[in-house]
Amino acid sequence: MAKLYFFYGAMNSGKTTRILQCEYNYKEQGMRAIILKPEVDTKGNDKIVSRIGSTKKVDYLIKPNENVFDLIINEYGHVDLILVDEAQFLTTRQVNQLMDIVIDLDIPVMCYGLRTDFKGNCFPGSQRLLAIAHELTEIKTICECGKKAMFNVRLIDGKVQTEGESVAIDGVGEVTYTVACAKCFRMKTKKKFDHGEIKYE
Ligand SMILES: [Zn+2]
Repeated sequence: MAKLYFFYGAMNSGKTTRILQCEYNYKEQGMRAIILKPEVDTKGNDKIVSRIGSTKKVDYLIKPNENVFDLIINEYGHVDLILVDEAQFLTTRQVNQLMDIVIDLDIPVMCYGLRTDFKGNCFPGSQRLLAIAHELTEIKTICECGKKAMFNVRLIDGKVQTEGESVAIDGVGEVTYTVACAKCFRMKTKKKFDHGEIKYE
């Protein structure tokens, strides 16, 4: 039986590299994997860009209100695997539609994305995937102190940001990100977790 997978981690944890490797492996076996990406992510537009420099054009950019189940039925028919990059930007409904694809079409769906935004809050897509995916796999990366990095810290001109919109794409304008463990995230943002400022909706 097909499953819905969520591979999550902080930025720079090698998620895109894994997608490219996975797609390649399927192709070598004579199977068809397609790569989807929510359109909101403007980094590389219709390409996915891994940190080690390889790029590939995605098969389809998902629009914010698009029904992903209908998309697969109408445009692709049967594929062997669906890979979703930047899955944190999916809507709750689109994650539900991916689950319907898994159940009704028996196609495995592997989503890759961030667990939380720069304020330490779940993105809607990640929250839904963490709730319903059959399998959760953390992709680990390392904080500068050597501990496991769990959080993303937003920088503008090198200065740590604690306010702003949830979505600001890395490398667009002066926005960059770095990763941090829980302790370093608290230190860098100067916010205690139970301070009433980091809000958990
Ligand atoms: Zn640290």
